[in-house]
Amino acid sequence: MQDCIFCKIAAGEIPSTIVYEDDRVLAFEDLNPQMPVHTLIIPKEHYANIGDGISDELLGYVFNTVKKVAEIKGIADSGYRVIVNTGSDAQQSVHHLHVHVLGGAPMNSGSP
Ligand code: IMP
Repeated sequence: MQDCIFCKIAAGEIPSTIVYEDDRVLAFEDLNPQMPVHTLIIPKEHYANIGDGISDELLGYVFNTVKKVAEIKGIADSGYRVIVNTGSDAQQSVHHLHVHVLGGAPMNSGSP
């Protein structure tokens, strides 16, 4: 998608700090980290959000990448939080499906 910042990151047109990459997904460091570990995982193909027609298979692949990222970042054992903001009430700000992987320190309650 032409004006999508995460499509540009996936295409290498905008630089990012890559954590993991294969032909279907890209994991890269969030520009404005909210935790010591804050990595984003995107499908390279553009989907605006989790409700935008992504296949179960690709969505599963994206979520399986969470485990890889947790291992790479060294937080698999200590624990981490996975967030997917979807739509306006959730204040999704970048409209290319992305999974936040947050960790590296104890967190507050997971309740909203
Ligand atoms: P959202 O609120 O769930 O849509 O999260 C979007 C996230 O993308 C935020 O945590 C931003 O800090 C992050 N972000 C926005 N632009 C960039 C970028 O160019 N590189 C890396 N992260 C970005």
